[in-house]
Amino acid sequence: MVDMLHLLRSVVEEVNSSRDLHSSLKTVVSRIRAGMNVQVCSVFLWDAHVNRYVLMATDGLSQDAIGKVTLTQNQGLIGLVGKREEPLNLSDATTHPNYFLVPGLGEEPYKGMLVVPIIHHRKLLGAISIQKTEAGRFADQEEAFMVTLSAQLAGVIAHAEATGALSGLNLLGGEQKDVRFTGVAGAQGIAIGRAHVLFPPADLNSVRFRKIDDIDAELKLFDKALSQVRSELKSTIDRLRGELRPEELALFNVYVGILEDAALGQAVTERIHKGEWAQSALANVIRGYIEHFDSMEDVYLRERASDIRDLGRRVLSHLQESVAEVRIPDDAILVGEEISPTVFAELSSISIAGIVCTQGSANSHVAILARALDIPTIMGVQELPWQELQGEELVIDGYRGHLFYRLSQEKRRYFEQIGLEEEAREAGLESLRDEPGQTLDGMSISLMVNTGLQTDIIRSQGRGADGVGLYRTEVPFMLRDRFPSEEEQASIYRTQLEAFAPLPVTMRMLDVGGDKSLDYFPIVEDNPFLGWRGIRVMLDHPELFMVQIRGMLRASEGLNNLKVMLPMVTSVSEVEEALAIIHRAVMELNDEGHQIEVPKIGVMIEVPSAVYLVKEFASQVDFISVGSNDLTQYLLAVDRNNPRVADIYDALHPAVLKALKMIVDAGQEAQIEVSVCGELAGDPLGAVTLVGLGYRNLSMSSSNLLRIKSVLRQIDSHWAKSIASGLLHLDDPKVVRSTLRLALSRVGVPLADLGMAPSPGQH
Ligand code: PEP
Ligand code: MG
Repeated sequence: MVDMLHLLRSVVEEVNSSRDLHSSLKTVVSRIRAGMNVQVCSVFLWDAHVNRYVLMATDGLSQDAIGKVTLTQNQGLIGLVGKREEPLNLSDATTHPNYFLVPGLGEEPYKGMLVVPIIHHRKLLGAISIQKTEAGRFADQEEAFMVTLSAQLAGVIAHAEATGALSGLNLLGGEQKDVRFTGVAGAQGIAIGRAHVLFPPADLNSVRFRKIDDIDAELKLFDKALSQVRSELKSTIDRLRGELRPEELALFNVYVGILEDAALGQAVTERIHKGEWAQSALANVIRGYIEHFDSMEDVYLRERASDIRDLGRRVLSHLQESVAEVRIPDDAILVGEEISPTVFAELSSISIAGIVCTQGSANSHVAILARALDIPTIMGVQELPWQELQGEELVIDGYRGHLFYRLSQEKRRYFEQIGLEEEAREAGLESLRDEPGQTLDGMSISLMVNTGLQTDIIRSQGRGADGVGLYRTEVPFMLRDRFPSEEEQASIYRTQLEAFAPLPVTMRMLDVGGDKSLDYFPIVEDNPFLGWRGIRVMLDHPELFMVQIRGMLRASEGLNNLKVMLPMVTSVSEVEEALAIIHRAVMELNDEGHQIEVPKIGVMIEVPSAVYLVKEFASQVDFISVGSNDLTQYLLAVDRNNPRVADIYDALHPAVLKALKMIVDAGQEAQIEVSVCGELAGDPLGAVTLVGLGYRNLSMSSSNLLRIKSVLRQIDSHWAKSIASGLLHLDDPKVVRSTLRLALSRVGVPLADLGMAPSPGQH
């Protein structure tokens, strides 16, 4: 039996490092044929443009047939496997009723056949088959291997297909227009603009080819980067000479040796001489070295691949430093793997048309900030070949989470039209600014805003908010390279408090961990959402807690509109400890001569345990506020940041609705103020449901406030109550949403008010 694991790993690695689909598949079939000791291995992929399976690669059958032989959905064993979505292991394929002999393909001599479907995220991509001359089923182990291989290949193939789509070609080489990539809707709206790709620094895999004219200048850059790394290494060796073991020191010397070895430098300079810029020349040569070392049998030599990678990254990072920062052009669409919320700090002076991230999901913090800034955003576009997009025109449909490329004129006009209608509607809502937040029957609903960025203040004031229901203090922390001092914090907080006084501003104690990390305070954990987060971090660092609360209290002096909120609370003891610190801070400050009033203090209900502790919390604090983003994540056990499970994350899930009902009922019984500050409050369907369940305080992104006000002013609170109690008996979030939509349209609320673009037809 062949070493399956080794074969699997080497096939997947080779495919990963190959950049085009045809050559990847060619490698796969020949490796599998040889590795599995069979006579034929072939891959068929489904081409949705022609509605047929296309023979993409074969080793053993006629090479002339590649790209020419196609099968319909119902033809042959490939069609059968595609339909059943399970493997077919046949002793003699020629006797199977679905066997379909394609003339000229050369399949006649083979009997034993195994066909395995290739499926990625529930989508059938095609099938891979192996064939042998003699009759007889393939062994269970062989079948299991092919299934494993196919599951791993699926992701690579999906990615390669997406990259192929970018070049405008379908599998058969025909022209492809209106290429669409699907992600998760992050922030609503339509955006049309040119891509500005944010490359992660020193990443050898994301560097792309660029042509240069000034070869001498490029060679100089490369030499400079090399000598910088060389001298860095030498000074490290000098510094650590006494501390490192001899074998560790030897490693650094190996590094220097590699750099001084003419071979590496020569290979790179040769490429530069041909007109390639130093970054991709270096990355390509380094990748070649890594592959070479990786494929070695000797474990010690294989390990050297990581040394080479590390060295390559060091040189690359110097090369990247010396390229002047490219300014982000106005109206660009930012594209990247993971766009850090810190990017927003630099955005205030320029206007960004849209954002596309290949990672993250609707409730990742980047998406939340983008919503606050009204920037149409798509998250989790996993298959997007983002590195290839620099400068290309893209269209974002932030309602459905679709990204379009090479859009036809007709469709482009369609999206432009939706964008204009949306602008007009937004402008129409402005007139509601000074109207009260209330239902048709006069039930008053306080509508507050969530803030974080300084720009949120102006945006919120333009929308007539009743105060701030959640000020995410981690945002200013993220925008620095160290913890802000008490003085700095006091001044940041004062701006917020002054801007809204006498309206209340609810400041949340630092909530880091999960997907909110500070570069200067990294938290590395296997399971960060269940780890060191929010109040847990702050109680473990009372000095950070103290500085922050003192900053807040000092800022509130004379204004007295501060409310303090504790995030991620799971137990009563955490509240007690936090209260002790807050009261101590008030006392200390008053002893120092300030005149500080004890602020109203509240607890966020974000984890399942807190749902059951509302009564206990109510005896300790003044208010509770539901963080529906985290509550949904923890109740449903669905990572709010993971695009793979985005379709099962829904704050209108019946289990979440039941929890929301329990919370508001317990809050009313304990006569404590209850609000919701998660994104659910800013979703028109969510807001109606919350009002129906009994919530009277909603806090949301300022960009949603007027829309929510408009919807609530069109409904009756008793009607909302009866709708919400009906929803509690449903068992599927999709049905909850459609029921709500239907009910709202029956009472005359237009679909556009619910934040839905007009029906897209074929989009
Ligand atoms: C929430 O979890 O709903 C919330 C408001 O907090 P954040 O989104 O900042 O975690
Ligand atoms: Mg939260």
